[in-house]
Amino acid sequence: MKDDTVLAHVGSRPEEQSGAVNPPVHHASTIIFPTIKALESRGSARVSYGRKGTPTTHALEDAFTELEGGAGTLIVPSGLSAATMALTAFAAPGAHMLVADSTYQPTRQFCSTQLVRFGVQVEFYDPRIGAGISSLLRKETTAIWMESPGSDTFEVQDLPAIAAIARSAGIPVMIDNTWSAGYFHKPLSLGADISVHAATKYAVGHSDALLGAIVCSERTYETIKATVHDYGLCAGPDDIYLTLRGMRTMGVRLKQHQQSAFAIAAYLMRQPEVARVLHPGLPESPDHALWKRDFSGASGLFGFVLDTHVAAKVAALVEGRKIFRIGKSWGGFESLLIPSGPEKYRTAAPWNVNGQTMRIQVGLEDVDDLIGDLDEGFQRMRSMLS
Ligand SMILES: *Cc1c(COP(=O)(O)O)cnc(C)c1O
Repeated sequence: MKDDTVLAHVGSRPEEQSGAVNPPVHHASTIIFPTIKALESRGSARVSYGRKGTPTTHALEDAFTELEGGAGTLIVPSGLSAATMALTAFAAPGAHMLVADSTYQPTRQFCSTQLVRFGVQVEFYDPRIGAGISSLLRKETTAIWMESPGSDTFEVQDLPAIAAIARSAGIPVMIDNTWSAGYFHKPLSLGADISVHAATKYAVGHSDALLGAIVCSERTYETIKATVHDYGLCAGPDDIYLTLRGMRTMGVRLKQHQQSAFAIAAYLMRQPEVARVLHPGLPESPDHALWKRDFSGASGLFGFVLDTHVAAKVAALVEGRKIFRIGKSWGGFESLLIPSGPEKYRTAAPWNVNGQTMRIQVGLEDVDDLIGDLDEGFQRMRSMLS
């Protein structure tokens, strides 16, 4: 079945829920067993303790597992906890981990603080390294972390090349797949073992809940599950329900985000103040060939570089807009525009651009209105004395 069909029906069992289309929201901590024997063998039951998930949780797990072709999924309270749990599962004193330099900044921070505290040697690498990653592998390497396209900078990584090298070394590849929502990119089919999501973004889609998902291959599922359970992480049932509800319409939303984002990228390319547009779907992008090979589409988040660092000019573009708002968590219906700062945290592949890097989330508003709103910002910017 195609993704849109999966998203419409996965986890829906009307015959088990009085005919209702949607799964009930189970608010449950205690699970009752009919006999002592059933209590003692609860480990093999799918529902055994509220913290480990209810049918509400399982419906969402199944949605991610089917969407990405995994063996199983763990649902955790945020995208960041999805990333940190996956990394923790392969951390040990003396272990070496390779982390893409374009990784979401809070995940990088976890690596540089908590993983280092546990005695892990964290090494950041150039996201465009491709097969060159083989020269960084050590006998202590326990995992390779990727994010593609990268946060703020949008480099596409050569997943098949990296996964082939990792596989021959027996190391799992984990990827933050939030940008594609698991809809436009299928990392497990390209050799990754773990695909991590901030479901907070497109799955939830309405900026009203935080949630994370870890989609696992057969060989990593039990390890990840044990780690998540040992740490006692569980998400609330209402947020899980909202996420599944969001996923029912994720396909149509993403197609609209994609279409409007391409139109706005084309508009930005025509503005003289825009030095570069950071969108892998554009033929001008250095990552276009990889994106075309490994992705079936593009979501609504991308970047661009203004030809100025002057804060007042950046503020003239961004502040006081009628539609575009200044906010961080993206993937909702509303458009956002912010200055980003990849030059502040990059180490392995420094981000050297002569100007201000920006991040734009193209929402579901009318695209002509969005362009009109941006145009007002550029006019204000131009009207300032340089
Ligand atoms: C937002 C984001 C996260 C973190 O998600 P939260 O649910 O806010 O914790 C992780 N990775 C990427 C790429 C993100 O954009």
